[in-house]
Amino acid sequence: MLELRDLDVHYDGVHALRGLSLTVGPGEIVALLGNNGAGKTTTLSAASGLVRPSGGAVTFDGRDITREKAHKIAALGLVHVPEGRRVFSTLTVHENLQLGGYLVRDHAEIRRRVDRVYDVMPRLAERRAQQGGTLSGGEQQLLAIGRAMVTGPRLLLLDEPSMGLAPLIVASVMETIAQINAEGTSVLLVEQNAVAALKIAHRGYVMENGACVLQGSAAELREDTRVAEAYLGG
Ligand code: ATP
Repeated sequence: MLELRDLDVHYDGVHALRGLSLTVGPGEIVALLGNNGAGKTTTLSAASGLVRPSGGAVTFDGRDITREKAHKIAALGLVHVPEGRRVFSTLTVHENLQLGGYLVRDHAEIRRRVDRVYDVMPRLAERRAQQGGTLSGGEQQLLAIGRAMVTGPRLLLLDEPSMGLAPLIVASVMETIAQINAEGTSVLLVEQNAVAALKIAHRGYVMENGACVLQGSAAELREDTRVAEAYLGG
């Protein structure tokens, strides 16, 4: 459903993507692994229209979106949740979720989608009147993903949802992502926490220096000695 082909991205003087190619199929969770600076965030930004590739192509459901504007891409169902849990800290959980419905005219539909998020994330339901900024790190991460769910994504681009979270919380965020996927949303998951990502992913890619150097099923990557040495702690 998503295909990135031979993507090049240049920032002033930095060649951040160098011929990057990857695909995400319907129903898949695909992990994108790699060290700091490998180009993972840039890959998501190129797919969602936040940065312009200087070469290559992005297609979504067979449609060329390489030069499409970010808000149009989001409206097609390709929704990017950036790193760092950007929740609105003075708005309540409920208001944050409702904002995800900014593209939806039908208020009943927004209500249904928000209720759906509460079903999948009961912790948010318990805290619906609490201000976003007072949630724990893990809860804020769920809220950022929940808000993206309300936009009605068919493919979610998640940037390091485990960042800064304690291991037990990481496990619960990953379980939630797996559940969202089981209900039909595809996921491209950027993670430095390869162990956590490969537990829920179907397939994965390893990036170095702006390109994919390794790809395979999650099981293949878990057993790959190069992956084990570099990312799984030996
Ligand atoms: P991390 O895991 O640390 O977030 P990453 O794999 O997501 O890293 P990117 O953030 O995509 O990597 O960065 C890839 C390269 O592009 C890095 O060398 C980075 O310094 C550079 N870069 C990223 N954003 C910009 C920018 N806005 N301007 C200039 N250089 C940038």
